[in-house]
Amino acid sequence: MKYFLFFVFCFYLNGCNTNKENISSSSVEILHDDILTLDTHIDIPLTYMTEIDPSGPTDLQVDLPKLQKGNLDSGFWIIYTPQDYLTEKSYLSALEIAETRNNAIHELTKKHSDYFELAFKADDVSRIVSDGKYAVLIGMENAFPLGKTLKDVKLWAERGVRYMGITHFGHNQFGDSSNPSSDRNEMTSRWHGLSPLGKELIKALNDAGIMVDVSHASKSTMMQAAELSRVPVIASHSGVKAIRDHPRNLDDEQLLMLKETGGVVQVVAYGSYIKGYTNEQKNLETTIALKFNVNSKDDFNALDEDAKISFEQARNELLAMEPRANVSDYVDHIDHVVKIAGIDHVGIASDFDGGGGVIGWQDASETQNVTAELIKRGYSESHITKIWGGNLLRVMREAEQASR
Ligand SMILES: [Zn+2]
Repeated sequence: MKYFLFFVFCFYLNGCNTNKENISSSSVEILHDDILTLDTHIDIPLTYMTEIDPSGPTDLQVDLPKLQKGNLDSGFWIIYTPQDYLTEKSYLSALEIAETRNNAIHELTKKHSDYFELAFKADDVSRIVSDGKYAVLIGMENAFPLGKTLKDVKLWAERGVRYMGITHFGHNQFGDSSNPSSDRNEMTSRWHGLSPLGKELIKALNDAGIMVDVSHASKSTMMQAAELSRVPVIASHSGVKAIRDHPRNLDDEQLLMLKETGGVVQVVAYGSYIKGYTNEQKNLETTIALKFNVNSKDDFNALDEDAKISFEQARNELLAMEPRANVSDYVDHIDHVVKIAGIDHVGIASDFDGGGGVIGWQDASETQNVTAELIKRGYSESHITKIWGGNLLRVMREAEQASR
């Protein structure tokens, strides 16, 4: 609020220049501290809380010292499970992974209850933050571990899961993915969107008060879910296709669907979804593929161990080549969502510890750089509040009200 008053004061003076050079870091800090910040995608390793304790300094992008430094108030900690063939055996091993991550998140809020508290409702978030703690919400990336039944949806809701992704890389029992699995030789589409069980899943999530997450879903899956859901859907971590043509990103028609149905896209700070390769990188990518004769995962698996190491070194050099995506490139995606869908349909997701991070927002300690860039672009305090979680919490309240 203080920054807003500064703004009004400047307006009356009619002389203050609000370009970046003249926005002092203290006014960014004041605004950043005043608003509630919510990041909807924070991944955790499988050794979280058993070998890695984030209450002290760690190699993770999100731990307590970094949250404190960057003043990131709250987030969705993620129960992620990879997919395999659709067999009972792989559902069970995914379930084991899901339970390990769920237990770790609960352990974080139990063991370090002075700092972290689990939020079950949208209103819990601001209450926890005003108590001086970090609000931990739970998101489940991929419904795969549910298996072929929906009987556990309520159980996951009781455990605190407040959004659930339909699928991940690869089509699953609930619907088509934006990225068919090349390992499993999948076609572009298996279900033409949601499967019959996927349609039931949407209803079960609505009933349980869990938001439907369409990130990683194919366009048809996403559009059908948005249409079918009684509650607006969210894309918990996706970018926009108009800026970076990538299967994981949403096109303008999808953004308009979110606008029409009241949903929200949490723009993801994942470098390769934000910014495409330069021509130099594209050429190098082709050279590497030719040199190692690798065009698929099977090709890679067929290499001997030394060649695998050399291939990965070459790929890492390719990825490390400048220019990488930075905070300005990131906020370009936010601007585009605002342009197409409006200020009420956009939010923020880092994907930290899951591959996320851009120059200027490499870990939670740099979170205020995102706010600084939003201020630089001319967003008001009330708009920045919506972007930094207000919109997402509105959908979460709608999910609570629609639950049965
Ligand atoms: Zn993801």
